[in-house]
Amino acid sequence: MENDKLFYKKHFIWEKLSSSEKDDAFKLGDDYRAFMDASKTERLSVKEIIRRAESSGFVNMEDKKEIKPGDKLYYVNKEKNAVLTVVGKESIEKGMNIVGSHVDSPRIDIKQNPLYEKHGISLMKTHYYGGIRKYQWVTIPLALYGTVVKANGEVIDIAIGDDDNDPVFYITDLLPHLAKDQNDKKLSEAIEGEGLNVVIGSLPSTDGDDEGKKEDKSVKLNVLKILNEKYGMIEEDFQTAELEIVPAGKSRDVGLDRGMIMAYGHDDRVCAYTSLKAVLELENPDKTAIAVFADKEEIGSVGNTGMHSAFFNNMVAELISIQNNGNYNELLLKRALANSSMLSSDVAAGVDPTYPQVTELQNAPIMGKGVALVKYTGSRGKSGASDANAEYIGRLRKLFNENDVIWQPSELGKVDQGGGGTIAYIMANYNMDVVDIGVPVLSMHAPFELITKTDLYMTYKAYKVFYDKFN
Ligand code: MN
Ligand code: MN
Repeated sequence: MENDKLFYKKHFIWEKLSSSEKDDAFKLGDDYRAFMDASKTERLSVKEIIRRAESSGFVNMEDKKEIKPGDKLYYVNKEKNAVLTVVGKESIEKGMNIVGSHVDSPRIDIKQNPLYEKHGISLMKTHYYGGIRKYQWVTIPLALYGTVVKANGEVIDIAIGDDDNDPVFYITDLLPHLAKDQNDKKLSEAIEGEGLNVVIGSLPSTDGDDEGKKEDKSVKLNVLKILNEKYGMIEEDFQTAELEIVPAGKSRDVGLDRGMIMAYGHDDRVCAYTSLKAVLELENPDKTAIAVFADKEEIGSVGNTGMHSAFFNNMVAELISIQNNGNYNELLLKRALANSSMLSSDVAAGVDPTYPQVTELQNAPIMGKGVALVKYTGSRGKSGASDANAEYIGRLRKLFNENDVIWQPSELGKVDQGGGGTIAYIMANYNMDVVDIGVPVLSMHAPFELITKTDLYMTYKAYKVFYDKFN
């Protein structure tokens, strides 16, 4: 009975952990929170991943002229996605063990010409990124992060809202007293995309020269003056900037027993973190181990930093070229990809005790009952699904059961309720084995999402035994 997954569905796995495993799970939770507080955007996630990789002995792949088994390499693509590699004893064409997550999360992007002033307040126009429920993002403290390229080419980083001394930003909503018309609207339409305007200032410029000349623009002018004093920015610099609005505030333990963690961006930085930790601890694997941290998953894995980009192919081609002293052959690349095994590490929709009706309870992941193994994604008739082979799942099942990884078979919601996808189908196109496996999450895509420390720990353990032992 111990290995029967339906058995675990009915029991608490916390009870099955030894006291040292319980300690490990809580320590992992603390380190994960530190990672999350340093990784509020895809760019900051990549910085934190590389910082941790360098302190674990990883070196930039571009500096390597030759590689040998056990070498630890990193590759950064346009500051927004990264790949870590631990070179295996076997040649790369025999296949790699890949764990792939994404480091972008739903957020609100600042438009390229954002600033305006109306009725005494200066605001910024925005365009949200990824699947957000817009009503969740109003009247909460918001932080501003991003990168600005000035006219002279200088690049500056902006981070305002998460330091205790920082101001925050804000999106307004109606008071209940005057919300009759809005209350009658559908939830999905009550807050409009063009209504997600971010308050950035309220004080007029006190510069005497502006008086009378800039009617209804003195607050905006004051905002521009502050940006200029602080960052040397002018208004046109917004055109060459990537600025993101994210929830302000640190991740927190949740519950009297501190068994859960609330944070912005569990989807999918929780799988990025657990796969990062697993690959950083790996020494001398048989198969070359790869941890991919992709960008743009939330908008379809498009663009030059998304999983559809050639960056991954190119990087593996470079690895093969270095391994073969510059003798590159495309057939070796194709074999390397087709012989690989991948865990598409992304979060799963856990059963919400308040909304159990959207999940089919016999096949949905229960919070705190282990890493969620999702054979297929897609929606409504498996459309767009990456459907893993039973044989591949069989090998993973054996690996996990033999190494005390507690996992639960999972799916994304009731058949006709909706659905979604990950990067799995893109990697499956190379003809490698791929399956989705990750941490069950509540309130996915909300400003703050919820996970359990038990599932965090089990997911880390699953990725670790996959790197250590899957062959
Ligand atoms: Mn995701
Ligand atoms: Mn998502």
